[in-house]
Amino acid sequence: MREMLRVYNTLTRQKEEFKPITEDKVLFYQCGPTVYWTQHIGNLRAMTMADLIRRSLQYLGYEVNFVRNYTDVGHLVSDQDEGEDKMDKGARAEGKTPAEIAQKYIDIFENDTKALNILEPTHKPRATEYIEKMQEMVSALLDKGFAYITPKAVYFDVSKAKNYTKLSGQKFEQNIVGAGSGDVSDPEKKHPADFALWFFKTGVHSNALQTWDSQWSASGKARGFPGWHIECSAMIKSLLGDTIDIHMGGVEHIPVHHTNEIAQSESVNGVPLSNYWLHNEHLTVNGGKMAKSQGTGFALSELTEKGCAPLALRYFFLQAHYRSKQNFTWESLDAAQTAYRRLQSVVAGLKSGQGNQGTSESEEKRQMYLAQFRDVLEDDFNIPQALAITWEVAKSNLMREDQLDLLMEFGQVLGLCLGEVLRVPREVEELVGQREEARKVGNYAEADRLREEIEKSGYTAKDTPEGPRVEKK
Ligand code: AMP
Ligand code: ZN
Repeated sequence: MREMLRVYNTLTRQKEEFKPITEDKVLFYQCGPTVYWTQHIGNLRAMTMADLIRRSLQYLGYEVNFVRNYTDVGHLVSDQDEGEDKMDKGARAEGKTPAEIAQKYIDIFENDTKALNILEPTHKPRATEYIEKMQEMVSALLDKGFAYITPKAVYFDVSKAKNYTKLSGQKFEQNIVGAGSGDVSDPEKKHPADFALWFFKTGVHSNALQTWDSQWSASGKARGFPGWHIECSAMIKSLLGDTIDIHMGGVEHIPVHHTNEIAQSESVNGVPLSNYWLHNEHLTVNGGKMAKSQGTGFALSELTEKGCAPLALRYFFLQAHYRSKQNFTWESLDAAQTAYRRLQSVVAGLKSGQGNQGTSESEEKRQMYLAQFRDVLEDDFNIPQALAITWEVAKSNLMREDQLDLLMEFGQVLGLCLGEVLRVPREVEELVGQREEARKVGNYAEADRLREEIEKSGYTAKDTPEGPRVEKK
């Protein structure tokens, strides 16, 4: 049944036919958040983009094993091995332990992803749970001659990696992004681009809060903590295997984090880490990347406080392809909320019996929309086009049941919960009924009181010519 799915592979810089390792199954890994702070909506866009790809794959008939990790150790303030561990920084700032900080921000992240209707990953490992696996990989790299030890750290020797810059396409001789520099550079590093697999609890890291024993003794300081990149390599190997189908992350990971993951994993395993590398572009504000450091990192809670429904933000994200930048403004968010509400009310109307009887060409049209929807997903997951087709269906003169079925089917892929508007609790239905009765007999004070009660339960009752229509607030 399946036609050909084509995806853009950063590794080959072109769209390619997607062929999973095992037919109908997809092994999919996304680099997850560093849990030292509330993730901003740019981070959440990245999570939504992977969710849309996962839902599209499922719609196209694949079974997806999806892993997204939590980085709770080893990600230094700079991606280039400089500064202190972000988790330690967060812990010191809030007077908490790194474990408490991790739990606090994982909880916020999980609430936010749930509100955005992002599916739960199959596995969501924490880096600190994989220290032993990381150490095994570091040992293997040392044994095979890909790594060396200095008094400060165990480093990966990039000159030994096969085609180190293949993902980014940078020239090795040029100034490689990722090459460490500055005050904490280790003079015993052989090449500036060599990156840490394991830091010893010494020098700038003497006060590191999370450390583990290791077997590599340098200056008698064997305790330490893992580098950032090795965690993904170890978690992928443990949970998904030596080679996976899709590896995803933000575009900024191409020259450093993903390049280093490839170098480590492929040097240990001797096979490709991932057959397809997918990278999402950034959410921007005033033309620049949305970033906490720029003061532009809005949290989801800041949006909801201003009256934005989380799924209206999801709708906003649907309007740009994952490989395109998307610019955030309050006006465009508002417009997305209006459009989302309109789509919801089309579905609500159809559910309450409004709509067409259909015409003789109805079935032909239904098939056409289905084929178009599938085609755009198969073209590197073109979600903005899928949304456009959903709107064509909403405005079409298809037979009522067909129109509703298609909207529900497409809404499922887009994750818009279109059907949920009418899943109203029994108590609320009863209140709506009582309010109707009160209105009929002219008892408007009672009707208003009941309206308030309905609203307190999180719903609104709109009066339409067809009777009351209940919607979520
Ligand atoms: P971090 O917590 O910094 O490791 O980032 C978590 C994820 O969010 C990474 O996959 C980043 O690529 C992604 N990310 C960070 N900033 C943005 C942004 N402005 N737009 C989209 N994704 C972002
Ligand atoms: Zn990663």
